Amino acid sequence: MDKSYELFVDFLMLNYVRKEDRYTKTLGIEFNKLYIRDMRKWGSCSRKRNLSFNWQLIALPEKLAEYVIIHESVHLMGFNHSKSFHEKIISLCPDYKEREKMLKNYLLTPLPQPLIKKKF
Ligand SMILES: [Zn+2]
Repeated sequence: MDKSYELFVDFLMLNYVRKEDRYTKTLGIEFNKLYIRDMRKWGSCSRKRNLSFNWQLIALPEKLAEYVIIHESVHLMGFNHSKSFHEKIISLCPDYKEREKMLKNYLLTPLPQPLIKKKF
């Protein structure tokens, strides 16, 4: 768990990483592009297999940011919240329900223009 968070921080800190990076190797998941941006959600995963994360993740407690990353990454395996989706989440993050609940205590504050959008 700590490992995947650490690897995400590498992303956030602008280390250029793509399909061959340590993160995808660790989780065995491949994505297309990764964006760090200002958005109304904590993260998203598109059908084009692009991951987007809100820049404000950096201000969340580590375990909550980690949960967001895990959640969106697991969407690369399926774009729904099916039983197998939750099973995968539980295997990576057994206390995910608690983390989801805690996450609701943190409000996002979208920036005025210009928006931050950083492609890796
Ligand atoms: Zn989801």
